[in-house]
Amino acid sequence: MHTAALQYLNINGSYRTFETSEKELKKIFNQLKDSGIRGLNVTIPHKTSVITLLDELTDTAKLIGAVNTIIFKNGKSLGENTDVTGFWQAIPEKIREKVSSQNISIVGCGGAAQAIVIALLLNKVKQITIYGRNKEKLSGFKEFVNSRNEQLKTKSKIETDLLNNINLSNTSMLVNTTPIGMYPDINNSPIKKEELQKLPKNALVYDIIYNPLETQLLKDAKDLNKLTLNGIEMLIRQGAASLAIWLEQEVAPLGVMRLALYSSLVSNEELHTEE
Ligand code: NAP
Repeated sequence: MHTAALQYLNINGSYRTFETSEKELKKIFNQLKDSGIRGLNVTIPHKTSVITLLDELTDTAKLIGAVNTIIFKNGKSLGENTDVTGFWQAIPEKIREKVSSQNISIVGCGGAAQAIVIALLLNKVKQITIYGRNKEKLSGFKEFVNSRNEQLKTKSKIETDLLNNINLSNTSMLVNTTPIGMYPDINNSPIKKEELQKLPKNALVYDIIYNPLETQLLKDAKDLNKLTLNGIEMLIRQGAASLAIWLEQEVAPLGVMRLALYSSLVSNEELHTEE
């Protein structure tokens, strides 16, 4: 989607992938920095460890403690996190307004959940309930959210509980941040359909997974006439936000990026079917 956007903008450039181990991260990072490129995206598992190699962080990246975007400028490196805006902007505006004043439930407390709670706090949502499978991780996550809640003076009500105890009866938006349901685990869902049924009538079920486009969770939610959103728009929005930063432009060509990404996912799905 980045290459399609660069072609559309008539910019001579490319977006490539580089795989690196934790051990090689510093070496690869320095090589890329010295190569004169505009910047990098960083993905799992380097989003946190790369911070030690950076000169500066934006306020958002500091809040999350993880970066997905690096900008090289005047010999310096700056870390940013565009998952925050990507997650939030993917939600239709009218729904954003509505869910903010109610309770939002998040399943999973890993890296993506960290960026998502910061997005929710920055948008001053009323209440966030986080469900996880591991008590210790959940309690560490609660500490993290509470400290950011204090720092931002947002006063959102924060609760955590084990996934086995999930109760969705007062949830306006349910967000899945676990990989349950992601290809090839496509028949599984983190939430039983009976539990989904307890969601209020106009609740949104948002699965940040984008492969497949419709996870089992979203299929079940649709069956129950709930509003649904998959993770592809978040992926597009975070990518577009990174590209706009590197190009020092206000916005990137979203439509072009969306089309390119959908086309590539469709051809991937065809490959999976052939297997
Ligand atoms: P992560 O840091 O590994 O976190 C995953 C979370 O899911 C952890 O809390 C983990 O629990 C929990 N989990 C995993 N398997 C589980 C299971 N069987 N039952 C209950 N909980 C389970 O991964 P991440 O970076 O947050 O990514 C998570 C998902 O989000 C992936 O599918 C990724 O593709 C997607 N994602 C999408 C976008 C987008 O742009 N749409 C962006 C980022 C991520 P433990 O902590 O107990 O292990």
